[in-house]
Amino acid sequence: MSDSAYHLDTLAWRLRAIVGEENVLESEPMSEHTTFRIGGPADFYVVPDDPEEVGDVVAACREEGAPYFVLGCGSDLLVSDDGYRGVVIALADDLTNVSVNGEEMTCQAGVTLKEASEMACELGLSGLEFACGIPGSVGGACFMNAGAYGGCTSDVLESVRALMPDGSVQSIDIDDLAMGYRKSRVKDEGLVVLSATFKLHEDKPEEIRARMDDFTRRREEKQPLELASAGSTFKRPEGFFAGKLITDAGLKGYQVGDAAVSKKHAGFVVNLGHATAADVRAVIAHVQDEVDRQFGVRLEPEVRFLGEEPGEKDEEPRP
Ligand SMILES: Cc1cc2nc3c(=O)[nH]c(=O)nc-3n(C[C@H](O)[C@H](O)[C@H](O)COP(=O)(O)OP(=O)(O)OC[C@H]3O[C@@H](n4cnc5c(N)ncnc54)[C@H](O)[C@@H]3O)c2cc1C
Repeated sequence: MSDSAYHLDTLAWRLRAIVGEENVLESEPMSEHTTFRIGGPADFYVVPDDPEEVGDVVAACREEGAPYFVLGCGSDLLVSDDGYRGVVIALADDLTNVSVNGEEMTCQAGVTLKEASEMACELGLSGLEFACGIPGSVGGACFMNAGAYGGCTSDVLESVRALMPDGSVQSIDIDDLAMGYRKSRVKDEGLVVLSATFKLHEDKPEEIRARMDDFTRRREEKQPLELASAGSTFKRPEGFFAGKLITDAGLKGYQVGDAAVSKKHAGFVVNLGHATAADVRAVIAHVQDEVDRQFGVRLEPEVRFLGEEPGEKDEEPRP
């Protein structure tokens, strides 16, 4: 923590005053908080209890000049081996309330997509079936416009409540969220989603369940769910499928250290046990170069990067 640009003691004191001593972890290994099981320590790992605390933590970071990063379930994230010189604000631990009003379901940002889809199913509300096997949070889904099996977040999202860059909290309607394939205004403008309201529709619970079971079966058949990963490593390039290009390039099973292109689904880079972020980055770079060389298509990572690798600048310095 010695090379951080901000005053650690002052920041630590302020963070503890906001969220309580027990909710501020120092030098917290990010490998514990990512589905890749990779990542060095974050200077601070902070767990706010409610939206007001999120706003106060962000304000404190800004005032102290500390970079911050909003974490959901860490299921789309590669954190550097050196960790992160800043504050990770973890929303999936405590921001987990759900309320239902007719066909509208409002979830705080930390609710998992699995919980949201299960609850909707039990209530006979259809629309979130596509999300049942995506291991992310509602906030992360709004950021990425997560989707699967022909459905995506923007299909059912009605609005979000978000912390804006100026510190205000605003309700933003779906039409103003500029959501597209793996993109959104949340991502482009660094908004912090506090909660999201989904517009669902009534259906028989057994029919909803049957669709969820079908998606789960298909996922289990095709994806290497027994290994740590961050899901699809690359975005789908227009007119192609990343997994097919990688397979056709002969890269299934390509390995650096303990990181490898999955033999089951070439779109996934998996952690075979003790992979480092450097291993994963090396696999990603080789796949990009080789697919480009053979097919003239440059694959773009879908997975987000956090923390600096040697010689690189952090992708998402905030504020
Ligand atoms: C096995 C596996 C299968 C997967 N399958 C799919 C799939 O079918 N479809 C799909 O789309 N994705 C899939 N993913 C990827 C991932 O689950 C999704 O992208 C998910 O939406 C990420 O949510 P998260 O909460 O884990 O986000 P994180 O990984 O925690 O964060 C991802 C980004 O979202 C931002 N973010 C998180 N919460 C908020 C918030 N409240 N406000 C603002 N920004 C926020 C973070 O800052 C970060 O930049 C899969 C991943 C795995 C491991």
